[in-house]
Amino acid sequence: MGCDCLSRAGVIYSRAMGEESESTERKRNIWAPWRIEYINGLQDEKEGACFLCRYRQCPSEDEENLVLWRGRSSFAVLNRFPYTGGHSMVAPYDHVASLDDLDAPAMLEIMEMIRELRKLLTGALRAEGFNIGMNIGRCAGAGLPDHLHVHVVPRWGGDTNFMAILGDVRVIPQTLSGLYAQLRAESERLGLPKLSS
Ligand SMILES: [Zn+2]
Repeated sequence: MGCDCLSRAGVIYSRAMGEESESTERKRNIWAPWRIEYINGLQDEKEGACFLCRYRQCPSEDEENLVLWRGRSSFAVLNRFPYTGGHSMVAPYDHVASLDDLDAPAMLEIMEMIRELRKLLTGALRAEGFNIGMNIGRCAGAGLPDHLHVHVVPRWGGDTNFMAILGDVRVIPQTLSGLYAQLRAESERLGLPKLSS
């Protein structure tokens, strides 16, 4: 089971770090140390260099930017530094940091995009589960705290293993460009996303 694997992974990591903590929180963390490259890159970005805003402004570069779908007020993009294969994000077009700044139609469309992404990733990648959520504020882990985005992370039983934890190695068996092409084709075949606006 996936949870058992994560528990074992947490214990292995703790022991590797010379710690004996067996807390539930530690055991359930998803360890992804390679993401420090992404986080450091974001911290270096100056104001106005938001990559989500850059993607929004350049529809002709959707393929290079891995933008999967565009809606009326939000869009879906593959994460360039994924936790797992198919890790996607849904963001409003507007550069806003607070949920208070989203109107009801924008919130509805974001939820619809999430629903459709789950459908797409389940069909195309045989995902067995999902972590879906937001990090609000840098202290909560947000790499880009000024532009809201929801992470959609597909999961499979046993997808966090010793290679990722001890070896700093990602086992993602597909290139991002190959995955992007597959998901765009599958979206077209299934008529996704189905949005109400
Ligand atoms: Zn932005």
